[in-house]
Amino acid sequence: MAEPPAKRFKAADCNDIIIVSVGREQKKYYLYPCDAKKTSDLFRNADTTGPPLNIPRFDPETFDIYVEWMYDRNSALIAAKDSYEHLMELYKLGEYLEDSAFRNMVMDTTIEIGVKPTWAKGNIEFQHLFLIASGAMHRLWIRVCAVSTKPTDVWVAGKGTLDDFFFRYLIEEYATMGGDPTKFRLPTMEDRCDYHDHDADEPRCT
Ligand SMILES: [Zn+2]
Repeated sequence: MAEPPAKRFKAADCNDIIIVSVGREQKKYYLYPCDAKKTSDLFRNADTTGPPLNIPRFDPETFDIYVEWMYDRNSALIAAKDSYEHLMELYKLGEYLEDSAFRNMVMDTTIEIGVKPTWAKGNIEFQHLFLIASGAMHRLWIRVCAVSTKPTDVWVAGKGTLDDFFFRYLIEEYATMGGDPTKFRLPTMEDRCDYHDHDADEPRCT
C-alpha cells in the first residue's frame, strides 16, 4: 500500500545532520542532508548515524567553497578570484564527492576565466595545468594547448621538457583535430557541454 503523500514528502533523514571532518586539521562541518544529498552521491550514500565522514585529502578553504555552493548554488565567488590551480583542486573535490553538478560548475568557471583575457600561456604552463587536472579537465587543457601551439614547437619542447604522459595526449589531440578541422579552435562557453559530466539521457546544456 502506498504511503500517504504527507509522510512520503517528509524525507526520512532530513532532520539528521551529516558530520564531515575535513583536512589534516580535521575541521568539522555539520551539513543538512537535504542540501548535501541533492547532488552528491557520496553524501547520498553516507551513513548519518556513524562517525564523522573523514575527508583528509582536501583543505577546509576548498571545502568552504563547496559548502557555499551547496547552499546557494552561486559560483560568483569562484569566478571572481580563483586561480586555475584552485579550480583543479575544486574539480577533484567534485570527483571525490561524486557531484557532477559541482564539477560542471567548476568547468564552466574555468572556461569562463580562460576565454576572458586569453587561453595563451605556453607549453610549460599548460603541462602544469594538465598534470594537476583530472577527468574532463584533462581534455580541456590538452585542447587548449593543442590549438595554442604548433606541433613543430611541441616536438622541439617535448625533447627535454614535456612529461611523457602529457606529450602522448598532445600528439593524439593533434591527430583528432587533423581528422576534424572544426575542432581546431579554443574552447568557448558554447562548447562547455563537451566537457561536462552528464547522465546518458540528460539533455545538453543550452
Ligand atoms: Zn552540459
